[in-house]
Amino acid sequence: MIKFCRMANQPIYDLDLKSITDLLTSWGEPAYRAEQIWQGLYEHFYSSPAQFPNIPKPLRERLANELDFIVIEPVRHLDSSDKQTRKTLFKLHDGHFIEAVLMRYDDPADSPPSFSPPIFAENGGRRRGVRRTLCISTQAGCAMGCVFCATGQMGFKRHLSSGEIVAQVMYYARLLHEEGSTVTNIVLMGMGEPFHNYDNTMAAIDRLNNADGYNFGARRFTISTVGLVPQIKRFADEKRQVNLAISLHAAQDDLRQSILPINKKYNIEEVLEACRYYVAQTNRRVTFEWALINGVNDTPEEARKLAARLKGLLCHVNAIPLNPTHGYKGQATTRERVTQFKETLEQAGIPCTIRMRRGIDIQAGCGQLASSA
Ligand code: SAH
Ligand code: SF4
Repeated sequence: MIKFCRMANQPIYDLDLKSITDLLTSWGEPAYRAEQIWQGLYEHFYSSPAQFPNIPKPLRERLANELDFIVIEPVRHLDSSDKQTRKTLFKLHDGHFIEAVLMRYDDPADSPPSFSPPIFAENGGRRRGVRRTLCISTQAGCAMGCVFCATGQMGFKRHLSSGEIVAQVMYYARLLHEEGSTVTNIVLMGMGEPFHNYDNTMAAIDRLNNADGYNFGARRFTISTVGLVPQIKRFADEKRQVNLAISLHAAQDDLRQSILPINKKYNIEEVLEACRYYVAQTNRRVTFEWALINGVNDTPEEARKLAARLKGLLCHVNAIPLNPTHGYKGQATTRERVTQFKETLEQAGIPCTIRMRRGIDIQAGCGQLASSA
């Protein structure tokens, strides 16, 4: 493993193509060198200047001296017992930690259906959906304090830079590339609230989406937010093709407030109003996330209240049984209640998917990420 020093230089992944071009121009280098570096980073996943075969040695040395290529250091990984989920702990240059998760879906029936379509691969004459979904972090910790979330329970440490967000994707892209595979979907559902770190999150998406580099399609990203209303409206105005998911979890303000403190600032009606605005601006469907907590928000009555509030909105509900965390006593819903919840919503005309719980044995499920280093 590469030794990780305190970062003193500009992290390479913080720079877009124009910034790399400007920097190289200021060094007296031709612009095509910037493109070579860009392609080396985002098409070949090089992680050190020494790997760039087409860059002259003096320039490679200058790159190594003046820019940091190791932006986050992988310090540990855990694989789930079925080997389908891997969680990696990364150390940041200032000593904070974050986690990111790779989820492999080889069977289409197992894939989360609400997000963008799987890549189809030939397999013995049979086409089948194969997904390699990354769940990445946007902050170390989180300031939103949702009671059932391990990241919320650890409090806020700091925002990640755009490069620290990009570097999580490049780490796994490199790993999958070595296996002859690729990332198919990216969900911003790891540690942190992406809309609290709006600019860096969008800069990271733009960098990964760049057609001359990694070229990862906007529709293959999903951003999940706890419901920051001004940012939902801003996101709507930007008319991005990125999927939007909203963590709702309750259909009444008093209940929502008791589990998601942000509801005191932006109540359910304000969040739903912002979602209607988003749909009007983009004509895109919103996904509502719902962690089913036994006896709290998993009753048919709660499902009916939810259906009534969502009526007429272009949306979909993703329900997932609560994942356990140390700081919250609530339990996951029962199997019967899951089915009942889905049926009640669907009878009222609201599409609902029950999400598979993944990586629970390694604390890699939704809301379980916390830097346990
Ligand atoms: N901050 C963003 C994204 C990260 S959390 C957000 O809150 O939306 C990703 C998802 O996991 C959110 O829907 C969140 O509500 C959910 N979640 C948090 N803790 C959970 C838990 N213990 N079990 C199931 N889902 C949980
Ligand atoms: Fe933050 Fe999302 Fe966890 Fe809430 S659920 S504390 S917003 S990461």
